[in-house]
Amino acid sequence: MRSSARPGLSPTVRRLALVALTLLVAAGALLGAQTMIAGKDLARANAGALDRSAGTTTTTTKVAAPVSTSTTTTPAPVAAVAPAYATGNAQLDALLGTLPAMLFAGGAHVHYGYNPLDSCCHAGGYNPEPNEAWIGPSAFSNAAKLTYVTVHELGHSVHVKTSRNAALTAAVAGAPVVRAGQWDDSEKVADCIAWVLYPAETAASGITYWSCPDPWRSRVAAAL
Ligand SMILES: [Zn+2]
Repeated sequence: MRSSARPGLSPTVRRLALVALTLLVAAGALLGAQTMIAGKDLARANAGALDRSAGTTTTTTKVAAPVSTSTTTTPAPVAAVAPAYATGNAQLDALLGTLPAMLFAGGAHVHYGYNPLDSCCHAGGYNPEPNEAWIGPSAFSNAAKLTYVTVHELGHSVHVKTSRNAALTAAVAGAPVVRAGQWDDSEKVADCIAWVLYPAETAASGITYWSCPDPWRSRVAAAL
């Protein structure tokens, strides 16, 4: 009798076939996954391209932000500030930076040193031409004296070189002579400006022409 049973495959061949089938399925699955990932990547790239072509700054901002952050967190060297004054003396330069702008309205240039046009070594000097104030070494014996001398010399330029000239001269009219000669009015005005702006330093200096009492002090204050 013929056996209906077909000659069966050996168990080894069956196992190999099963393994081959499994590998085939697995390879197919992997291929599909790779295609999906590639598709996603492509979609992202296109989206980015659209963003850029649309001119949106979102992508650029996200990239640039860390750069700017690192720049700001890194302490940048502070640029040296050019000195506002260059008299030749640091203490005088520092004082000038604290004085009211009105004192520079006459445009005087302040220098450290004894007045080259002066016969001797006065603490301060003012030359209407070329509109220079000189602050000499003897003015630096104390801070009050330095302040008074500097404000007084600048006061001359305010009196001589600004539109306040007539009002300031009128403000000291009738006052006693403090320095005989052509500078009498200007010395009174310059001292009164110092008394108005820096009364404590002016009093402590001990070298004023006069005390600029009222009514002249009030008049000068009103004319400034
Ligand atoms: Zn003077």
